[in-house]
This record gives sequence, C-alpha cells and structure tokens, in this order.
Amino acid sequence: MLTFDVEEFDLPLEYGMSLTSAEQLAIGKQGLDVIRDVLEDKTTSCTLFTTANFALKYPASIARLSLDHEIASHTFFHSSFKREDLFNSRQVLEDIISKKVHGLRMPRMKKIEGGWIRKAGYSYDASLNPTWIPGQYNNFRMPRNCYEENGITRVPASVSANFRIPLFWLAFKNLPYAYFKRLALQAFHKDGYLSLYFHPWEFLDLSDYNLPAIIKRKSGIGLLDKLKHLISDFKKEAEFTTIRSFLETGEPGWVHTVKEAYQSYS
Ligand SMILES: [Zn+2]
Repeated sequence: MLTFDVEEFDLPLEYGMSLTSAEQLAIGKQGLDVIRDVLEDKTTSCTLFTTANFALKYPASIARLSLDHEIASHTFFHSSFKREDLFNSRQVLEDIISKKVHGLRMPRMKKIEGGWIRKAGYSYDASLNPTWIPGQYNNFRMPRNCYEENGITRVPASVSANFRIPLFWLAFKNLPYAYFKRLALQAFHKDGYLSLYFHPWEFLDLSDYNLPAIIKRKSGIGLLDKLKHLISDFKKEAEFTTIRSFLETGEPGWVHTVKEAYQSYS
C-alpha cells in the first residue's frame, strides 16, 4: 500500500518560515504534478489522504485521481483541527469525488479516538506509526498489525521487522536504497503487507526552504527516481493496492482483534 498525504505545504511554518495559504496550496499541487508518472501507472493504485482544504482548491484534480486511486481524508486543514473537521472533510471529499470516503489519516499522525472516527462516518484510521519518534510520539508498544477497535480498523504504517525502524518518508529518503528495501521486504514478509507513506511535495526541490537537512537534503527528482525504483522492485514481489481494497479483500488473519494485535506486538 503506497499512500501519499496530499496537502498544503505547511511544514516550513514549523521552522519559522512564513508561507501564505495560497503558496502552501500551490506547492502541494506542484508536488502532485511532479509525481504524475507514479499516479498515472495503472498497476499502482494508491491511497491519497487529502485535506478538504486542498481538494476544494483543486477539485478537478482530486476527482480525476479518484478514478484510479482511493481518496481518503487528511482532515480539513493541515495546520488546525476541530472535531467537526472529521465529518466535514469527509462530506467535502465525497461531494467532489461522488464516492464514499472510508479512511482517515490525521496530520502528523496525531492520535485520535476511535469513537470520534466511527461517528464521523469512517471505517478505518491510518494515523498510527507504531514506533518511537523522538519529540513526536511513542507508539513503540502499539500493535504493528491492522486491528479492529471500537468499530473501526486501525491500519498502522509499516515498521521494520526488528527494532521497529519506521519505514516512513524520512527513512526512505535518508537511508541507502538497498538497506531500506531490505527492511521493507522483511516487514512485508513478517506482516503480510507493507504500508508506506509519502507526501507529493517531497519530490520538489526543497533546497530554498528553511527546513532541517534531514527533510530537505534528499528531495526532488533524485528522490522520485528512488521511489520509482522501489515501486518497480516491489512489483516483482507483490501487488499494489489501496488500503480500502486491502481491508475488503485481504486474506483472513490480516486484520486482528485488539487482543491478538497487542499479543503479537514485537
Ligand atoms: Zn500531512
């Protein structure tokens, strides 16, 4: 499962740089345009977690992408959150794509109560990175596998088979390709699936932004080539699918009960 968070580029704000809301949206859109090859590949269906704010600005693009990919919610605005944004963002996205939206991912993988998600009309949540990210969250003891809880399914992002090294966007860009691929393959064989997440704006040249080197050093076309390499290598191992169809058609045993999920937390 290849997933992208399709959003306004508000990250530089965290590092004291100011960007207008229009600039943030425009950069998000440039990123989406730059990964066009990946999104136009009919054999690679992705899940695109989109803010309603972004979708309202570029409704035609989101509607077109919904023909080949799953559109899910990344709440309303990337920089702020109110509980009603869960429901409202789903409504906005459904109006734009004329399809039901099933999934949610919170900006910055914020923890969110299952009851809130269910009441807002979602069936799954992909906001869990089951590892420790210093300064952000410590989910080291959370399940690494999909599990049902309070009427929704939690779909954790993938972590390595040992030591739970996060296989997320920062690891992909900073680790040597062969090492990341080996960790991803091991996780794939351990868990039976792999769930990776990126942002379209990573594939733009970020050198002019006031961002830490770990974020901007490897960006742009070089990173896009690395991603294409990974996709082509994984096509030899597995099938790409959206989170929604993975949950719908997955083999029994892929989704655990809470108890099972916690028991096999290693
Ligand atoms: Zn995001």
